[in-house]
Amino acid sequence: MYSFSFHRAQSVADSLAGFTQHSDARFLAGGQTLLASLKLRLAQPDCLVDLGQVQELKGIRVVSGQTVSIGAMTTHAEVVESKEIADALGALIDMASHIGDPMVRHMGTIGGSIANNDPAADWPAAVLGLDATVITSGRKIKADEFFLGMFSTALETGELITEIEFRVPKRCAYVKFRHPASRFALVGVFVADFGSEIRVAVTGAGAGVMRMPAFEEVLKKEFSADVLKAIVVDASVLNSDMHATAQYRANLISVIAMRAVDKASGAT
Ligand SMILES: Cc1cc2nc3c(=O)[nH]c(=O)nc-3n(C[C@H](O)[C@H](O)[C@H](O)COP(=O)(O)OP(=O)(O)OC[C@H]3O[C@@H](n4cnc5c(N)ncnc54)[C@H](O)[C@@H]3O)c2cc1C
Repeated sequence: MYSFSFHRAQSVADSLAGFTQHSDARFLAGGQTLLASLKLRLAQPDCLVDLGQVQELKGIRVVSGQTVSIGAMTTHAEVVESKEIADALGALIDMASHIGDPMVRHMGTIGGSIANNDPAADWPAAVLGLDATVITSGRKIKADEFFLGMFSTALETGELITEIEFRVPKRCAYVKFRHPASRFALVGVFVADFGSEIRVAVTGAGAGVMRMPAFEEVLKKEFSADVLKAIVVDASVLNSDMHATAQYRANLISVIAMRAVDKASGAT
């Protein structure tokens, strides 16, 4: 192991100050991705700014029928255990309960997940599908502008995610076809019906989380799984790897989206 500094931050201000004191610092959330990257030498920061003690980054706030706000350092397990979220936006509980294994869910955080923006991660689909706002140390970023492709986001160097604010739709659901070993999504689809707008976000299939405008258009006219049958998903922009071909993923997007619509409708 090579040497680096470790700064245990006590507040958001302290986190930002700790970051700027070094030339190549990284924020450390649950370490579920970052520590593996260090061990593999994919990242060699000169300082880790540990966010674990920063109380301002933790917690859940629900404004009834309108928004659910989740602090960046909230773990997946804390989401799963939240009665407030269960009452307001149960699809998030369902989604978070299928992330990884118990250890990953108790260490991994929502902030770390979306900052990392793994193309097969679940939270990016929920954030994009629910038209969430990512609140950082300096600004508010809409989900449509936040995710920029594989492991890439609109975050600038030293910008800290503090909270994610979700809109509460009329109905929504997430369904994933998971990789049996990692439990990441081979394809995951989040569908949300806001009445005036339908949003469909797909993870796992391409270079990053993406919306499906063709699905959204037909679902707006009729919110039923049947209307998706006629749409052929373009496989040319999807991943092909040892786990699945692009054609297979394209077909999975249709199948999983139909299941998500049925689930949101209460049909399953
Ligand atoms: C075995 C395994 C299985 C997994 N399965 C799944 C799965 O099924 N579905 C899924 O979605 N995910 C899965 N994950 C990912 C996991 O859920 C974590 O969300 C992810 O690894 C990020 O971890 P973390 O929160 O500990 O962040 P860290 O690893 O600490 O940080 C990740 C990155 O985000 C940055 N960062 C962290 N917090 C902030 C912040 N507040 N502001 C700005 N930047 C920040 C860090 O600097 C780092 O670059 C899995 C991980 C493992 C190891």
